[in-house]
Amino acid sequence: MEREVVDVVVVGAGPAGVAAAITLAKSGKEVVVLERGDYPGSKNVFGGAIYTKPTAEIFPEFWKSAPVERYNVEHRFALLGDNDGTVVGYRNEEHAQEGHYNSFTVVRAKWDRWCAEQAEKAGAFIVPQTLVTELIKENGKVVGVKTEQEEFYARIVIVADGVNSLLAKDAGFHPELKPEAVALGVKEVIKLPKEKIQDRFNLEGDSGVIYTVIGGPMQNMLGLGFIYTNIDSVVVGLGVSLSEFQHKTIKPYELLNQFKEHPVIRPLIAGGELLEYSAHLIPEGGYNSMPPLYSDGVMIAGDAAMLVNNIHWEGTNLALMSGKYAAEAAIKALETDEFSANSLSVYQKKLEESFVMKDLKSYKDVMKFAEKNSNILMGYYPNKVNEFFNQFISVDGIPKKDKYRSFIGNALKERSIPKMIGDFIKFAKVGGGVLLK
Ligand SMILES: Cc1cc2nc3c(=O)[nH]c(=O)nc-3n(C[C@H](O)[C@H](O)[C@H](O)COP(=O)(O)OP(=O)(O)OC[C@H]3O[C@@H](n4cnc5c(N)ncnc54)[C@H](O)[C@@H]3O)c2cc1C
Repeated sequence: MEREVVDVVVVGAGPAGVAAAITLAKSGKEVVVLERGDYPGSKNVFGGAIYTKPTAEIFPEFWKSAPVERYNVEHRFALLGDNDGTVVGYRNEEHAQEGHYNSFTVVRAKWDRWCAEQAEKAGAFIVPQTLVTELIKENGKVVGVKTEQEEFYARIVIVADGVNSLLAKDAGFHPELKPEAVALGVKEVIKLPKEKIQDRFNLEGDSGVIYTVIGGPMQNMLGLGFIYTNIDSVVVGLGVSLSEFQHKTIKPYELLNQFKEHPVIRPLIAGGELLEYSAHLIPEGGYNSMPPLYSDGVMIAGDAAMLVNNIHWEGTNLALMSGKYAAEAAIKALETDEFSANSLSVYQKKLEESFVMKDLKSYKDVMKFAEKNSNILMGYYPNKVNEFFNQFISVDGIPKKDKYRSFIGNALKERSIPKMIGDFIKFAKVGGGVLLK
């Protein structure tokens, strides 16, 4: 019996897989998406924000019908000490207007499902509850996948199975993930009445705010905290390099509990009801840890390809774009009936020409720098900012001049001027790298 061969099999119905599927389906190609979850998004974890422009490239005007929570109008940055903190925010009212929306918070279980439905409407065939166990290779070329139940043959396979990609390992692209190349993200979703969220976060209508947090219980650790506002819940979490957890005795959920108890965070979520706790890995290694992106008959997209910009907490946009470009490369290959690595190299070229690879290249040295200097970046300097403000606002009978002298004296005791100049040069070098690459 002749075996059935479809144009493309996509593994994983996250942002990368679904973007690939809808792009292929819209151009009339046969596409089957295999997803292990009960439904797309059922188990997927993220912090909270999808970005309007790249998302609208795949789902035009999605905000009119998709299950979005809030449009974000403000981003706050919090530097936390043990019991104090400095918070600065950037708010832009334009981001509250259609045509200028920058990002939205979404709940993945609802959002991914909606996205998958759009792909189905375009003609993609999505098969949930199907765990892909390995790639099928013939003469070194990928020709399909094996699931727990059956085999699926395809002219091209797009691997979009997320960070701990079994299939990228199977294809020989990835060795085991290195602890320093991934962060462990833990988060809680806390239910609060909408009016409380409006008041506590200074919000109107369906506008929302994002927090990026440095320090607090994560002082000296390579990690960041985050807060996102949904309509009637708040997401609180953190992502810390897995290598930090290997070297420290603290457990991720203990760190999260301490984070929630910090005086800057606690009042924001007080009295809320815990709806959900989840944990997930985040690719953190960036450009330097990317596997090869294509081979004969196969391409790798999204987290499976380590495409995350962790400085900006951007992952879904890179996943969507990589899925789209992989699909476009597949469409070209299907039209010329040529599925070799050479033909699929178009995928890498498209990524190189886009913000995806340009950003990853710009930031390629930042993580290494942050890893080596986490004690000063996540400890010393944030603490000094807080100490400065404490001195600046305190009225305690001590003359201001004496206070500033004592502040400078203490700062220098902990870090000498040559060391600070050294820090500045290192910052400037990495910063220059970001601008020049
Ligand atoms: C705590 C945390 C916070 C984050 N916050 C943000 C944020 O605010 N904004 C942002 O843009 N990004 C954020 N990210 C990153 C973002 O979630 C990812 O970059 C994005 O989801 C990657 O999409 P993907 O499609 O590549 O992978 P995933 O979303 O992981 O999707 C992979 C899919 O493949 C399926 N799958 C896996 N293995 C198999 C298999 N063997 N067979 C069949 N199906 C399989 C999974 O069930 C899943 O549906 C965050 C991540 C974490 C962990």
